Amino acid sequence: MKRKMILLFFFVSVMITGTFVINKCRAEKKISVSVWDTEDDTQNDWRLILVNDSHAVPKNYQLELTQLSNGICVDSRIYPDLQQMFDDARSEGIYPIVGEGYRTHEEQQNIMQNKIDSFISEGYSEKEAKKLAQDWVAEPGKSEHELGLALDINADTSLSSDEEVYSWLAENAYKYGFILRYPQNGEHITGIDYEPWHYRYVGTEAALEIYTKQITLEEYLC
Ligand SMILES: [Zn+2]
Repeated sequence: MKRKMILLFFFVSVMITGTFVINKCRAEKKISVSVWDTEDDTQNDWRLILVNDSHAVPKNYQLELTQLSNGICVDSRIYPDLQQMFDDARSEGIYPIVGEGYRTHEEQQNIMQNKIDSFISEGYSEKEAKKLAQDWVAEPGKSEHELGLALDINADTSLSSDEEVYSWLAENAYKYGFILRYPQNGEHITGIDYEPWHYRYVGTEAALEIYTKQITLEEYLC
């Protein structure tokens, strides 16, 4: 009887341990596959995820969203800095608005399809239209807007001009952790033409260095 109990205990222990090991492997696999491709520390910082033509949004990327008063959503983690930046701009007589924030993969696909359709309606072949559209629209899965960390910021034109907003942001956004993501003369590195409205949250530390050295996110991460 005692022997049977010991054997039973042994089998139960193996079963329990086995289950734990399997679960642990699954969990580890899920983390490494779903979010990060690399063990580099800078890549493990959510603020520094690189998304461009050669780096897609990590699979199963998860985020929590906060909805702004105009219905646009942003990653909740950047909301306090964004709010502070807008409050400070307004106190200086500059009135920015967020024109674009988080986009779902499907929304990005629709934007791309609309652009392709507009070129087709101008008489281009489907192949040509696709190629041309890629110069204007980031491929679905390769748009920073799918991270919820990128914003297109324009002016509330009843109170400020776009130029006023862009120049205020160019000089001040880094203090709140935002960078001008596609600077002038950076097209050969970022792959995107100058966009004075597109800001990306990277945190204040990285933003200060990127602003001071006048470099791109790609160069900062190199
Ligand atoms: Zn944008």
